[in-house]
Amino acid sequence: MNSTCGLSYLPHGSLLQPLWDHFRRRQDLLSSRYLPAAVAFLGHLFFCAPFLALDVIGRRWSVLNRYRISGSNEEPVCLRRWFDCVLRIFWNYLLCILPATALLQRLRTPVLPASAPTCAQALWEITLCLLLFDTLFFFWHIVMHRVLWLYRQIHRAHHQNQETFALVAQDASWAELLSLQMIALSSAALVGCHPLSEAFFHLLNMWLAVEDHCGYDFPWALHRILPFFGGAPFHQLHHEVFRGNFAPYFKHWDKLFGTYLEEDV
Ligand SMILES: [Zn+2]
Ligand SMILES: [Zn+2]
Repeated sequence: MNSTCGLSYLPHGSLLQPLWDHFRRRQDLLSSRYLPAAVAFLGHLFFCAPFLALDVIGRRWSVLNRYRISGSNEEPVCLRRWFDCVLRIFWNYLLCILPATALLQRLRTPVLPASAPTCAQALWEITLCLLLFDTLFFFWHIVMHRVLWLYRQIHRAHHQNQETFALVAQDASWAELLSLQMIALSSAALVGCHPLSEAFFHLLNMWLAVEDHCGYDFPWALHRILPFFGGAPFHQLHHEVFRGNFAPYFKHWDKLFGTYLEEDV
């Protein structure tokens, strides 16, 4: 998660300074070759855990199922599918993501500026990273669906799950997982953001991907608060009908390109 910083950060008493100082003292850990893959894998499981708990509770307390997205599973996903999915993701990480990110980490020279970004600066950089990631993902995703060979070789594995549940966010071929990691890293590098903003962006990106696939539509979900945000119902439709809602988070690219699908399609 370290990156060459494109901006200069002067001491300004940021609220994030104590957190950043804490990380800088663990420079050895930050430059570990295995850290990016370990954080991505364990972070994904951590963000999925509440939805696994909901699936388990929902089997006994059916009132929770009223929040399940129509078209998603009517019943919570069985534990066997969760387990199989964890295994597939684990092997993809072990055999591909871990070696690839370890190599990249070895090639990168970490630059850890003395000062943390201000909260406003971090918020701005994270927003830019998300918008850029959303854009790159949208075009990558359209190409995956339009070029049959690429769809079969790379993207079809993710679409084996017509019904989504949280873990599905990373249940994909090794080539897709690697592509998405590269898109996320490139977005942060192009924005030139502070390493702390980059770390927040990767964590937020991980959470949003899990939320997209969670199969629940809660009143407090982000897309209920931010109307330009697609959320789980938007992405669930993509898994059902394949031919629209290609952006991961925001709706604007699908609306511009005429690929926007609404729930009553
Ligand atoms: Zn998906
Ligand atoms: Zn797709």
